[in-house]
Amino acid sequence: MNGTGEDLKKVFIKTYGCQMNVYDSERMRDALAPAGYVAADTPESADLILINTCHIREKAAEKVYSELGRLRQLKERAALQGREVKIGVAGCVAQAEGEEIVRRAGAVDIVVGPQSYHRLPELIAASRPGHPAVETEFAVAEKFAVLDRIAAERNSNPSPEGGRWLREAETEGVARTDPTHRPSAGPPSPFRGGMSSPRVAAFLTVQEGCDKFCTFCVVPYTRGSEVSRAVASIVAEATRLAGEGVREVTLLGQNVNAWHGVGPDGRAWGLGQLLFRLAEIPGLDRLRYTTSHPRDMDDALIAAHRDLDALMPYLHLPVQSGSDRILAAMNRRHTRSHYLHLVDKIRAARPDIALAGDFIVGFPGETEADFADTLSIVDEAGTMGAFTFKYSPRPGTPAATAADQIAEEVKNERLYRLQAKIDARQAAFMGSRVGTKAEVLFERRGREPGQIVGRSPWLMPVHVDAPATLLGSIGRVVITGAGTNSLFATIAPTAADVLPAGLGPALEIAH
Ligand code: SAM
Ligand code: SF4
Repeated sequence: MNGTGEDLKKVFIKTYGCQMNVYDSERMRDALAPAGYVAADTPESADLILINTCHIREKAAEKVYSELGRLRQLKERAALQGREVKIGVAGCVAQAEGEEIVRRAGAVDIVVGPQSYHRLPELIAASRPGHPAVETEFAVAEKFAVLDRIAAERNSNPSPEGGRWLREAETEGVARTDPTHRPSAGPPSPFRGGMSSPRVAAFLTVQEGCDKFCTFCVVPYTRGSEVSRAVASIVAEATRLAGEGVREVTLLGQNVNAWHGVGPDGRAWGLGQLLFRLAEIPGLDRLRYTTSHPRDMDDALIAAHRDLDALMPYLHLPVQSGSDRILAAMNRRHTRSHYLHLVDKIRAARPDIALAGDFIVGFPGETEADFADTLSIVDEAGTMGAFTFKYSPRPGTPAATAADQIAEEVKNERLYRLQAKIDARQAAFMGSRVGTKAEVLFERRGREPGQIVGRSPWLMPVHVDAPATLLGSIGRVVITGAGTNSLFATIAPTAADVLPAGLGPALEIAH
């Protein structure tokens, strides 16, 4: 199939979980494009429905099985109309459950783990009614190699259809199912709820998997051990993105600052050196990375925060707990004082940095005194926003079988107190922006007429009264108001220049 005319088939991808999954869904589309698949608007109109699952969520597997029950009915209705619909399960639940999915959910045709998305076309072709295709091998390096090849092929043979499709990331379910376990939205997230068109901000996976084995976490089991993507491959993808008009790239990894490689100079590089190299790419004005681990925050990375204007002053650096006793039980490999010392160094390098994190309350054995340490580290570190989680046992992880599990009411109460503190700090940070100027990357039209939405350096969205002609540019705005999760602004007029009549004041815009 060549992907033209009547050969076109439709795929609907429902994405759950983190930005790694959002990125992976884009890669699945990349892998399916050569096999003639284009995006479907709804599951009902699709020939292939993929659910990209997240295992961090509570009762994740059970929720996937009930979703599959609904999709089975959809598949049966389509069959009555003479249409074949295939159903695939991807992501961490696919990796963890494997054949069990096929056993429990008969309607499933494909089960594919995060390392094997490049094999989707052949898995689809191999699956037959009653004979699903299951692929959950770990082969991360191969996955990166194939992604490079797909990107290269697309570069040499760009099609208008493919280009349009790639820009319209289908991300249904992400915001709703973001694994925050908290009712409010959490800190700003690099995830864009629906990509801008044309796309000006993009994700780029540089690292997969994790070797840290925190005792609460499934990632080392579902995503496998840590693998870094080669420098040349990352630079090639970033250059291609810049060529397509992307101005902001967020580097992704489960443990992104564990990334390591060999630079063109033959030396060992860490994420800091990589960021310096990426900042040289013409057109890439803004860089971010997520999610990082305190243990991997080395001096070169801190120097990048000091020296690189392109590296935005926002850092998601999860601490999980403020208690050394709990941090040890979590196998976090850092202490409270190590974290606070690190934050001091980062602030010395980049005083305007906005610090966000992840916290878990109610980890087995957590006492009221331990929790008080968590509350106090929020203030001492100056945390601006956080995803807060109630500890939830994950089968197969060491903490799940610990004897001293915490009662649900206690977890709820601690979560409430922690959220209240973080919400207050977030509100104070947002309020402190009002009246200041900031550079904003304008990404998409706003809901209100005459409004566009961009990203501040600190990641939260900024709603600006400005014409859509500014989309894709970076402009200086004056912050006029603050909501819970977003800011409001007007374009900053320059004192000196005035545009020709009818066009309003000159804008401080960097095109
Ligand atoms: N690698 C990152 C780090 O170490 O900070 C975090 C990645 S993890 C996918 C995202 C967050 O989910 C964690 O930071 C943690 O707060 C939360 N999380 C993971 N497992 C959890 C569990 N069993 N219960 C509650 N929260 C959990
Ligand atoms: Fe999970 Fe992050 Fe710990 Fe790795 S470092 S085990 S991804 S929480």
